[in-house]
Amino acid sequence: MPEYAFIGRSNVGKSSLINMLVNHHGLAKTSQRPGKTQLINHFLINQEWYIVDLPGYGYAKVSKTSREKWEKFIRAYITKRESLQCIFVLIDSRLEPQQIDIEFCYWLGEKQIPFALLFTKADKQGMNESIKNANAFKKKLGEFFEEVPASIITSAEKHTGKEDVLNFIYEVNKDFVKPII
Ligand code: GDP
Repeated sequence: MPEYAFIGRSNVGKSSLINMLVNHHGLAKTSQRPGKTQLINHFLINQEWYIVDLPGYGYAKVSKTSREKWEKFIRAYITKRESLQCIFVLIDSRLEPQQIDIEFCYWLGEKQIPFALLFTKADKQGMNESIKNANAFKKKLGEFFEEVPASIITSAEKHTGKEDVLNFIYEVNKDFVKPII
């Protein structure tokens, strides 16, 4: 069954966003504690596809060894999983482009993994600022990608972008356009 994975820096709002999508509070536990989602979690949706909750990257408090260990694990999942249709990379829309997010996107591009960008927490600083930060991020990616991946601005708090994300999944399904380097 097709899988759509969600990944981002710890505390980016991934659990909240997954909860918003599946409309079931408590399904993907939200947490104030960075690094709580340690394993790959699958949520079956409508008996037809999976939301895959990947561990967050970039936490400072985890030791280098365990960080490297899970990075290897996640990278193996991403590059080898045939049922993986697309990765949603979550980016905090309050922040200017962050190197760690850009590097992760570059890596996905190198590996020819289809991905889309979800900018989170748009309610916190308003749509204009979110759009500004999203555009700055996409501009950075434009230095590397001929075609910048699709992006959606979201807020789990206000339920913004829910339909857009689900439509993206249902409309594109297996025909995601792979980014061209
Ligand atoms: P995760 O570590 O990426 O899974 O992040 P969580 O979903 O646990 O969210 C981290 C923190 O950000 C929590 O305190 C959430 O309540 C908060 N948060 C997540 N999404 C939103 C959002 O859309 N708007 C606002 N205002 N806060 C959010």
